[in-house]
Amino acid sequence: MTAKLLFPAAEPVLADIQGREEKYPVKRIFCVGRNYLAHAAEMGVSVDKTKQEPFYFTKHPSALVASGSAIDYPPQTANYHYEMEFVVAIGKAGFEVSEEDANELIYGYACGLDMTRRDLQLKARETGRPWDLGKDFEESAILSAIVPKSESGLITSGVIELEVNGETKQQSDLDMLIWNVQEIIAHLSKFYHLQPGDLIYTGTPEGVGPVVAGDTITGRIAGLGDIALTILK
Ligand code: MN
Repeated sequence: MTAKLLFPAAEPVLADIQGREEKYPVKRIFCVGRNYLAHAAEMGVSVDKTKQEPFYFTKHPSALVASGSAIDYPPQTANYHYEMEFVVAIGKAGFEVSEEDANELIYGYACGLDMTRRDLQLKARETGRPWDLGKDFEESAILSAIVPKSESGLITSGVIELEVNGETKQQSDLDMLIWNVQEIIAHLSKFYHLQPGDLIYTGTPEGVGPVVAGDTITGRIAGLGDIALTILK
C-alpha cells in the first residue's frame, strides 16, 4: 500500500539533455574547491598538488536552475559572485574507481555556474565553519543542457569563459585544472559511491567577481555550448 503523505513529496530535479527528449534526474551535486592555480591565488591561498588532496562541498539538488533563467538576487549577501565551471554528469555507478576506469562513469558534460555568497563563504572560512551559507543556497547551481559524451567525445581541454553584460571576466582552458576529471572521479569515489545523477562542478578559473541586480551572465565551454543567467532584483 502506498504511504499517505502529509504534504506533497518534492518533485525530482531534472536536467535537460541536449538533443534528447529524456531528462537527466539529478541525485547529488558535488563541487570541487580551488581547482585552478590562478583562482586559488586570487582567493589568497596556494595549492600544492604533491602535498594536498582535492576538497569538496555540496549543493542540494533543489538548488539547481536551468540555464536561461532569471533569478532574484539572493538574501543576506552584499557580494554575490559568479563562478564559471566545467560540469561532469555521472551516468554509471562506481566506488573506488581507478583513474584509468574513471571515464566509463561519465555520461556527459555541461556548463555550470557555482553562484556564491562570497561574503558569507569568506566569513565561514575565517571562523573555520562550514561553507553552506556561502555556497549551498536556493538557486545557486546553474546548469546548461548536458551534452552526452557519446556526442562530444572525451573532453580534457578547451576554452572556458564567462562574461558579465558582454564584458569578459573569466577566460581559461580546461587543461589548467589542477586535478583533472579522471583524478577527481578516482578521488571522490573513495569517499562516496558515485551514482547516475551525480553532478560534479569541477571548480572555477580566475576572474571571479560580483554581479548585481540587472546583470546578465553568459558563458561557454568549447564543445558544450552556452550558459546564461539574469539577475532580476
Ligand atoms: Mn566553484
